[in-house]
Amino acid sequence: MKCTVCKGPATIRMPRHNAHFCETHFISHVQKQLKRVIRHFRMFPPGAKLLLAVSGGKDSMALWDLLLEGGYKVDAVHINGGFGPFSEASEKALREYASHRNSSGDAEAAPVRVYSFRELVGADFETALLAARMPPCSLCGLTKRYMLNRLALEGNYYALVTGHNLDDETAFLLGNLLHGQTGYLAKQQPVLPPRPGFARKVKPLVRLTDRDMELYARLRAVPCHAGACPHSEGAVSHVHKDVLQQIDHTFPGTKGSFYFQFLEKIRPALDAWNSGDVDSNHRRCLRCGYPTRRDGLCQFCELQEKLEKLPH
Ligand code: AMP
Ligand code: ZN
Ligand code: ZN
Repeated sequence: MKCTVCKGPATIRMPRHNAHFCETHFISHVQKQLKRVIRHFRMFPPGAKLLLAVSGGKDSMALWDLLLEGGYKVDAVHINGGFGPFSEASEKALREYASHRNSSGDAEAAPVRVYSFRELVGADFETALLAARMPPCSLCGLTKRYMLNRLALEGNYYALVTGHNLDDETAFLLGNLLHGQTGYLAKQQPVLPPRPGFARKVKPLVRLTDRDMELYARLRAVPCHAGACPHSEGAVSHVHKDVLQQIDHTFPGTKGSFYFQFLEKIRPALDAWNSGDVDSNHRRCLRCGYPTRRDGLCQFCELQEKLEKLPH
């Protein structure tokens, strides 16, 4: 098998691109796909100050490496949920990567800020679960969405960047189609433009898969934590990913066409969401002033109030 680019020995098959790559040209393929997405969707200009949400997993860790190698200005931020060995290993991976980059001379080569769940919410996760009475993944998701948005706005960043890849986005798309979630479908875009109270949000990995990112992280020796969150066991999204993987295995490229055809042809039909109707449904939370669809308190501040009422 020969590399499509240099004709040297190839070790990596890319059926969906009808190509084979050697390690060097696989890495440049990933870099090209990233650049192409950033440019095509006008995600951010070269000098923009970016806030990258890093989980310690392969996607956001590899994205961190790709953006730094590409010369972008990136501050990384991590929320440590305090989920035992899983959270410890995740934080360790990103600290290791930052100290490796910083050891090359520039002490601020890879700035990263780590917040604990407790520091952001004022209670540990178990206590917050008692107060919130919601599934753990919903509580974790709510906290991450709210805090990452707020940190991006208050830090004056051009955009909040996350490591969602093509497998994540197509699994999410399938789930939302199966359950007729028009609100989520309308919001499913690689770029969410900024609106009052909402930071610009971008997903530069939408052309790359789980396998691509795993391989990139391995070849570039980017530390990452492979474990799954202890709360995510049995998540339906895993089933959706598996189903899509099976289809893509038989018909390479299906995942890409599913996602990009949706963006091009179906999503515009849902544009009511962006036309202002939804904006006018947003009020301001009486406690923190951030946008909410509710009267009174936003979901995050409601959690805070419940926490304050718990006996100490
Ligand atoms: P997930 O929902 O775990 O698939 O994560 C999707 C994206 O959210 C990741 O690629 C990160 O960019 C971001 N993210 C997830 N967990 C965290 C975390 N604990 N701290 C900061 N960012 C996170
Ligand atoms: Zn090659
Ligand atoms: Zn609030």
